[in-house]
Amino acid sequence: MGYEIKQLWARRDRYTAGGNSKKYIVVHNTASTASAYDEARNLHNNPGRSSFHYTLDGEDIYQCVHDYDTAWAVGKWSGTVAYIRNNESISIEVCSPGTEFTQAEKDQLRWLVHDLMSAYGIPASRVVRHWDCHSGRKECPKFYAGSNNAAWTKLHAYITSGEEDEVTDKDIAKIAQEVWNYQIGSEGKMHYNNTPAWQHLSFAHYDTARLYQGMTDTSDPTGRDVKMDDHDHIKWLAAGQAKQNEVLDSIVETLASIKGEVESLKANKAE
Ligand SMILES: [Zn+2]
Repeated sequence: MGYEIKQLWARRDRYTAGGNSKKYIVVHNTASTASAYDEARNLHNNPGRSSFHYTLDGEDIYQCVHDYDTAWAVGKWSGTVAYIRNNESISIEVCSPGTEFTQAEKDQLRWLVHDLMSAYGIPASRVVRHWDCHSGRKECPKFYAGSNNAAWTKLHAYITSGEEDEVTDKDIAKIAQEVWNYQIGSEGKMHYNNTPAWQHLSFAHYDTARLYQGMTDTSDPTGRDVKMDDHDHIKWLAAGQAKQNEVLDSIVETLASIKGEVESLKANKAE
């Protein structure tokens, strides 16, 4: 069901607030052996003149700058001509010393690129390398830099061909189990707590769970009560009857509408 994007925000003095038209996605390598967490922590803790939106290492994905903010990632140096600017691009740093990306990194990159392409209507032709951004031709990502780089052609085809996440029966069983595992509190009511299980539920998981429970309250999930009546409903879900196709269809439909809402919220926020 996709990957989790962790957030560790960059210091306010190393990016420009707002202004990003999000027309391009730019792929970089970090040119170091540091992990994504190390890279994110560096932006979070230390002053500096560069930044990026996302970093990934095959294990974790961190976001450090909001998509609508302008990271300092592809700026040209003097005497060179800019083709793609910071304020029209979302930069992804792959943690790599300059060698070929690992399969795990390629898979994460493909997922993230697909997500961003869908969110902002970015075509594959605007998924580029740092190397493509100005006439100074920064050797980044190193393994994939240069004209007619066959490795880049192949990587580009791969990372721009991602697919939508599908909700599987296994996902639903997992959601049901997580919902079922929530603690039963006082007064015979089940309470949503800040359990690790809850924290790992994505927004989409949450709404899927809500759909199944027949609840109408869409307010903040924490601290919210669920009626005892819902237990049978949840049990029913956990028992696997949710495998019926019509139910699956309605989940997919609901997720799609939620995604649409989130995207329009994102777009509004960016303006
Ligand atoms: Zn770069």
